[in-house]
Amino acid sequence: MADFGTGVLIIGTGPAGSATAALLSTYGIENMAINRYRWLANTPRAHITNQRTMEVLRDLGRDVEDEAYLFAAHQELMGENVFCESLAGEEIGRMKSWGNHPLSKAEHLLASPTMMNDLPQTFMEPLLFKTACSRGTQARMSAQYLSHEQDAEGVTTTCLDRLSGKEFTVRSKYLVGADGGNSLVAEHAGLPFEGKMGVGGSMNILFRADLSKYVAHRPSVLYWVMQPGADVGGIGMGLVRMVRPWNEWLIVWGYDINQPAPEVDEAMATDVARQLVGDPDLTIELISANTWTVNNMYATHMQKDRVFIMGDAAHRHPPSNGLGSNTSIQDSFNLAWKLAAVLKGQAGEALLDSYSVERAPVAKQIVTRANQSIAEFGPIFEALGMGEGVDPEVMQQNLVARCDRTDAAEAQRDAIRKAIAFKKYEFDAHGVEMNQRYKSNAIETDGQTEPAFERDAELHYQATTWPGARIPHSWLFDHDSGDRFSTLDLCGGGTFTVFTGIGGEAWEETAKSVGAEFGLNVRVHVIGPRRQYVDHTGDWARAREVSDKGCVLVRPDQHVAWRSKGLTGDPAGDLRRVFSKILAR
Ligand SMILES: Cc1cc2nc3c(=O)[nH]c(=O)nc-3n(C[C@H](O)[C@H](O)[C@H](O)COP(=O)(O)OP(=O)(O)OC[C@H]3O[C@@H](n4cnc5c(N)ncnc54)[C@H](O)[C@@H]3O)c2cc1C
Repeated sequence: MADFGTGVLIIGTGPAGSATAALLSTYGIENMAINRYRWLANTPRAHITNQRTMEVLRDLGRDVEDEAYLFAAHQELMGENVFCESLAGEEIGRMKSWGNHPLSKAEHLLASPTMMNDLPQTFMEPLLFKTACSRGTQARMSAQYLSHEQDAEGVTTTCLDRLSGKEFTVRSKYLVGADGGNSLVAEHAGLPFEGKMGVGGSMNILFRADLSKYVAHRPSVLYWVMQPGADVGGIGMGLVRMVRPWNEWLIVWGYDINQPAPEVDEAMATDVARQLVGDPDLTIELISANTWTVNNMYATHMQKDRVFIMGDAAHRHPPSNGLGSNTSIQDSFNLAWKLAAVLKGQAGEALLDSYSVERAPVAKQIVTRANQSIAEFGPIFEALGMGEGVDPEVMQQNLVARCDRTDAAEAQRDAIRKAIAFKKYEFDAHGVEMNQRYKSNAIETDGQTEPAFERDAELHYQATTWPGARIPHSWLFDHDSGDRFSTLDLCGGGTFTVFTGIGGEAWEETAKSVGAEFGLNVRVHVIGPRRQYVDHTGDWARAREVSDKGCVLVRPDQHVAWRSKGLTGDPAGDLRRVFSKILAR
């Protein structure tokens, strides 16, 4: 007999675990979350918060979304991605990033009701954790996962209470391993991984110093410092990352992974900060310093029967593209509604198999992208004449050479411009952030072919209602109040939703009755003039890819489950068939 019982036990209260707990509690599912430490993230770690993640927060409630914006550095402060010799020294180039280029900004505005922002993990985690606990999550801090055993009915997990030194057991229906990059749950579940851990070494130096005079005129989250022959234990490039504008900073400085990790004491941290800022007299208030390794590893399967892994437990990669906590939170949005549907008896257990089928390809994609983004700094170094093995003095000469009037210098300037512009695959990759399309048994395409991407799928988001894609965002207007709502606001929230138009009322009638057969409270929106929501701009009509009489069925995670271009001969039969398949009933 276990000491405690719960529906879902979550190991870890990082972005993945806290988001899962918050969503499950919102859906009314009993859950417990444990963390081996007494509190949440104590360093800023992840910060870039993309639109899809903000949509998850918005789905949790406008209060949750608003609080994120309240504490975040806004998108406008993120935009000038600077490459320089030092903050005080010569600027080599820059690129508009994170949706701040006017063309990219338009794409962001068209794609989502939310805005990208910079929210350090020290703010994101408490927000999600507070939401979880206030809605019902039982949290146990200073509680360490030790092992688990599963059988046909559930999972028994053994934990250590680090305050008393005593072990306790928890019996749950399901176990979620959101226990980070060294996941014991993944290891104990024997889940398969590809790739390699520890492919590079990095140190983080967190400090306070007012650097406004170097940065406020070119606001950015990231300042890349490229120094020929930098020798403070580094590899020639450093990152000065804004944590709070403009007085709290995190320096990321590489070290040779083949050497032991350096001891970062106050003297070394100050030296590195002075060198990267380019001010030999700079005084810093050191907050903390630590070393970490760059990983290139992902799970090819994220489930073992009743045990699931998510977040860094499943995808381990460098911070490039800012995908870490974003993908972790999005994993949870995918799994939470499925666990809830199974635990509420609305779906068969086979629905849970779709989690790994849908999310493991994302894990591979983002780990690959993040590591590729590191490699894509290479052409900048090459163009600057700062390639590997080049003598530091020659590097300095090469930097100077780009200012000459010669054809060679013009070619060099061109190469530098192109190499910097190419970094949009890291700093403005809207497609990577927004284009996830799922293919699994929890989606029914009825053989409709997937629309090809018309532009680079890593850079540009392409809206479609093709089943598996996230529902496109369009603003709709409340007929009575005139208030605007995104299509994303009208779905999600733990329920299935049907969007139809005038003439599609048969979907309305049948969706509710067929939904009830499955124990679902299906929401239906008939969009059109004099209906509750009106498409004044025609944006939804252009985006929906079905006729007025058609139907777009949306899952609780805002991905399209199924669509019909028009009214079918048997709407009830079609919905029954689709729900049966999706819910594995
Ligand atoms: C130094 C550093 C800097 C980073 N910088 C960035 C960045 O700039 N941008 C970015 O996007 N990402 C960054 N990341 C990655 C980002 O922080 C992660 O992707 C994100 O935190 C993953 O969230 P998670 O919830 O999966 O795991 P984590 O945040 O690692 O959370 C794991 C949780 O599990 C708990 N836990 C672990 N083992 C046990 C156990 N045995 N028992 C109980 N609890 C346990 C931990 O205490 C923690 O609560 C950085 C990571 C590190 C380490």
